[in-house]
Amino acid sequence: MTNNSAVTRHKWVIAIDGVVGAGKSTTARWVADALCYRHIDTGAMYRAVTLAAIRKEVSASDELALAQLLDGLNIELEPQHLGGKIRLNREDVTDAIRMPEISRRVGSYADVPLVRRALVAQQQAMGASGGVVADGRDIGSVVFPNADLKVLLIADLVTRAERRYVELTKKGVNTSKAEVEEDILVRDRADAERDYGAARDAGQARVLDTTTLTIKEQAERIVAWACGTE
Ligand code: C5P
Repeated sequence: MTNNSAVTRHKWVIAIDGVVGAGKSTTARWVADALCYRHIDTGAMYRAVTLAAIRKEVSASDELALAQLLDGLNIELEPQHLGGKIRLNREDVTDAIRMPEISRRVGSYADVPLVRRALVAQQQAMGASGGVVADGRDIGSVVFPNADLKVLLIADLVTRAERRYVELTKKGVNTSKAEVEEDILVRDRADAERDYGAARDAGQARVLDTTTLTIKEQAERIVAWACGTE
C-alpha cells in the first residue's frame, strides 16, 4: 500500500466542447499528453463513419443500411504514443477524414440518432475508467455529464477561419480563406440549431476564449485547472 497521491489519485474525465475551429482536438491532445491521459477525438469518429458511408454510398436517410454499416465498422483511436492514427477497420484514415468533402457532409450523418447512440456508447466505454480527455460537441452534456472538468472553447470567426486555413493548406488542400470562413459559418449555424450543438453551454463548463491564445497557452490553462493550480 502507498499513500502517494500521484498513484492513488482518481483519474479524471475532462470534457472539452467548443465551436468549429476553436482548436478543440489539438488542445485536447496536448492536455492528454501532459497528463498521460487518453485522447478521445469524437469528431474523428463521426468523420470516420461519414467516410465509410460515402465509400459504400449509404445515404444519411437510409437508416437500415446505416445500421448495417455501423455493425461492420471498427473505429480505433490509437493512443498518441502508438502514433495517434485514426483507423477504420485497420486502415489508416487520419488524413482522409479531414478532407473538405467529409467536413461538408459529416453533419448529416452526425444528426442520425442511431449513429450518435453507437458512437456515444463507444466513447463512454473508452472513458469508463477515467484518465481521458474527450473533445467534441456533446461531451459535457451527453457523453460525460459527470465529467470532473468541463471546458467550452470559443474564439472569434476570423481567427478560427485563419487557423483552419493554415491547417488545410499545410495538408495540401486547395482552398481560400473566404471559402473556409463560409464553411465555418454554415457549420456554426447548423450547430446552433442542433440539440447537441456547441453553442449549448455544457452546464458548469469553464468557458475559455482562445482568440488570442496559442494552442500551448490554452492547453496549459486547462492542465492548470485539472491540477488545481489555477
Ligand atoms: O470536431 P470536428 O470538426 O472534427 O467534428 C466533425 C463533425 O462531427 C462536427 O461538425 C459535428 O457535425 C460532428 N460531431 C458531433 N458530435 C461530436 C463531435 C463531432 O456531432 N461530439
